[in-house]
Amino acid sequence: MSQDCIFCRIIEGKIPCAKVYDQGGVFAFLDIAPVNKGHALVVPKKHYATLFDLPPDLGRELLEALRRVGRGVMAATGAAGLNLGMNNFEAAGQLVHHAHFHLIPRHAGDGLSLWTQHAYESGEEMQKLAQAVRSAIV
Ligand code: 5GP
Ligand code: ZN
Repeated sequence: MSQDCIFCRIIEGKIPCAKVYDQGGVFAFLDIAPVNKGHALVVPKKHYATLFDLPPDLGRELLEALRRVGRGVMAATGAAGLNLGMNNFEAAGQLVHHAHFHLIPRHAGDGLSLWTQHAYESGEEMQKLAQAVRSAIV
């Protein structure tokens, strides 16, 4: 636990939250500033900063929590869809440095656009980048 981490303090019960899930090593609560009402945050109980710090062994429990909480959020809000998102590092918009997954309920025509997309200059540029990524995977 990190004393200066707001999510650690929420998980410890030192800061109140609207808890929705608490099983094994995973905790979930409603985001205080929802994109849509019912927006939930699924977090490991232990403090890890980003996706890259999460122990792979936690993956099964995390996936189970994402599926169960996600279904619960959709059922409780009457949502027709659900976005799963994760911001890693400040450049990607991570404000709280305790790894967390956003579950955002979506309604047809709610007007949200998560990101804009662009084109590659050419197929060659795309293939070269794919090769660079393959080489960088360890
Ligand atoms: P990030 O930008 O780091 O991916 O998202 C952090 C999220 O945590 C934001 O959506 C923000 O609204 C939420 N948040 C920040 N502080 C609190 C808090 O004290 N309680 C709750 N429930 N959510 C918080
Ligand atoms: Zn923390």
